[in-house]
Amino acid sequence: MINQLEKLLKQKDINPTAMRLLVLDYFLKQETAISLSDLETDFDYSDRTTLFRTLKTFEKKGLLHSIKDGNITVYALCTDNCSEEFHADSHIHFCCSSCKKVFCLSKVKAPDVEIPSNFKLEKLDIIAHGLCADCIK
Ligand SMILES: [Zn+2]
Ligand SMILES: [Zn+2]
Ligand SMILES: [Zn+2]
Repeated sequence: MINQLEKLLKQKDINPTAMRLLVLDYFLKQETAISLSDLETDFDYSDRTTLFRTLKTFEKKGLLHSIKDGNITVYALCTDNCSEEFHADSHIHFCCSSCKKVFCLSKVKAPDVEIPSNFKLEKLDIIAHGLCADCIK
């Protein structure tokens, strides 16, 4: 298992430290996007700054993408297509208004939008709001 994790990190050109392996392992087990506070709760033996830096490194290297929902930023794993400074995550995110979880709808592609040519588009965030499958029940 550790070998598999190390391989994933190396693929994205990330030095596999113990902390990074743990955080990656954690993300692989999640079904929803995770905020820094969620991570902190589950990693109570490590400090916030280290966790935050780990998230930022992963995001920069194309391992995680971030979704900003209001004041909260959540993170989810990227596909293999993402690399350093280039994120290919063009899917829509779904925020459940009941449980507040954020889901990657990786099969739902964001529509093409036309941005005026004198603007430079870096990232298009589309967040759908509603009830998730669990909360509808
Ligand atoms: Zn990405
Ligand atoms: Zn829900
Ligand atoms: Zn996503």
